[in-house]
Amino acid sequence: MDGVPRPHSRPDNERVCAGQTGEGERATRRRTAGRPYRCRKRQTPPVLGGEWKIFINNEWHPSESGRLFATHNPATGAQICEIEEGDKEDVDKAVEAAKAAFQRGSPWRQMDGSSRGRLLHKLADLVERDRVTLATLETMDTGKPFLQAFFIDLEGCIKTLRYYAGWADKIHGKALPVDDEFVCFTKHEPIGICGAIIPWNFPLLMLTWKVAPALCCGNTIVLKPAEQTPLTALYMGALVKEAGFPPGVVNIVPGFGPTAGAAISSHMDVDKVAFTGSTEVGKLIKEAAAKSNLKRVTLELGGKNPCIVYADADLDWAVDATQQGAFFNQGQCCTAAARIFVEECIYDEFIKRSVERAKRQVIGDPFDVKTAQGPQINQDQFDKIMELIDSGKREGAILEYGGSAIQDRGLFIQPTIFSGVGDHMRIAKEEIFGPVQCILKFRTQEEVITRANNTEYGLVAAVFTKSMDKALSTASALQSGTVWVNCYNALHVQTPFGGYKMSGNGRELGDYALAEYCEVKTVTMKLTQKSH
Ligand code: NAP
Ligand code: MG
Repeated sequence: MDGVPRPHSRPDNERVCAGQTGEGERATRRRTAGRPYRCRKRQTPPVLGGEWKIFINNEWHPSESGRLFATHNPATGAQICEIEEGDKEDVDKAVEAAKAAFQRGSPWRQMDGSSRGRLLHKLADLVERDRVTLATLETMDTGKPFLQAFFIDLEGCIKTLRYYAGWADKIHGKALPVDDEFVCFTKHEPIGICGAIIPWNFPLLMLTWKVAPALCCGNTIVLKPAEQTPLTALYMGALVKEAGFPPGVVNIVPGFGPTAGAAISSHMDVDKVAFTGSTEVGKLIKEAAAKSNLKRVTLELGGKNPCIVYADADLDWAVDATQQGAFFNQGQCCTAAARIFVEECIYDEFIKRSVERAKRQVIGDPFDVKTAQGPQINQDQFDKIMELIDSGKREGAILEYGGSAIQDRGLFIQPTIFSGVGDHMRIAKEEIFGPVQCILKFRTQEEVITRANNTEYGLVAAVFTKSMDKALSTASALQSGTVWVNCYNALHVQTPFGGYKMSGNGRELGDYALAEYCEVKTVTMKLTQKSH
């Protein structure tokens, strides 16, 4: 393992100890049934002081209800630790704290942009310092390969923090020429209290995509991590405090969607919600916003992303990039390469090479440096994927490779390739969120563009060709927030990311995200004398 970072410790069947004191009393109110709770090995990062609680006002709080919930390692099934379960009352407390921190005259409101930028840089420094710990926690909680967590998730997190640190003192309005004797300018001001509700597939990355621009613009935050993956968000709470952010600026309430999540989206004092997750829950969040205070909502939802491989593409590269796009993060990506349209004359060869590549996919212990694919996040997702694979078989797609669970390995699924996929099949229409590659055949450019756009989603798309003409005309015709040409998952913090159609509203990343975290104020002054 020379030259690569090592995780702090191998989790295997050990649990993280949630609290070092008061075990007897706390154990009586634990909700999770099953194995007796014993702390076999302390793995809790020292920075948390052994606490996995609710982070409000830079302090760790027990839940108002007294309930806890467990988080598990999907690679082993072992419980990692228990966490205080936030609910509406805890969200109310967090919103109060965020509101106080946002009040006029508060240290946060008085802080200038360059000081906010320094704090964000400091937070990035701390994430760099604790990069191995954070990547270890992320791997334990999600099952994603450690090296991917370290080199992709953590890299993206640090870059995002530094990018928005750089913007913090560059947020400004415009001076606008207007008719008659007036002087007019705009100011870009923070919106206020921003809720953030994030998913389990990229917990830390989705946190920073929301927290970094929100703080850069001077907002305060109440964030709910996904129930499956609360650990890195809570660790970030400790780093936020250590970096020196004033109390109440960032508040983190672990808990469940219909309780803690819904309390954020329906809260009358929350001014904006940023959400990443399923389209179904995205609709609930918009509905809750509409029924409460019409808070601003940005949504980053699902995709059924088309990849178009023309006959003149570099075939090996296209095979590699599209399969990587389908299997990356166990297929649990909103950007997953979900429908791979291959031109008729290279179709058979493309399938042959894709199967050869899939055979080389190393599946196993996420802490093994050779592993490219870990387990799915939980039993629900595993069952959903297996059911969709069965539907593909039933509806007549050709199973070229895989198609089964890996025997006796819990939540691991074989990399799976279907060819002969028809546009009407469920595997061509529904988000699978698993390691399943669907290959479809096409004849003409016009035909493939129509079929690629024939979906309710519009998140990302890709085109593989050596012809610039074909690449640009196809990219223009695709209804999609991002189009990659001869590459896949090429995400950069400087470029906006978001969806057309039911893939969402608004944009994250780049300077486009700043607009999602600012209100625009127009100031108009009447002059007593002519200005020209
Ligand atoms: P989800 O339910 O949409 O979860 C995303 C986040 O929303 C979680 O923090 C969740 O909390 C929260 N949430 C759930 N119900 C809520 C409600 N009524 N009000 C406010 N917040 C709520 O996603 P999932 O159930 O974990 O996964 C289901 C499917 O969603 C996947 O199969 C996949 O197709 C899609 N998905 C998409 C993305 C993406 O990146 N676009 C990410 C994850 C999942 P809990 O964790 O407590 O449920
Ligand atoms: Mg859910």
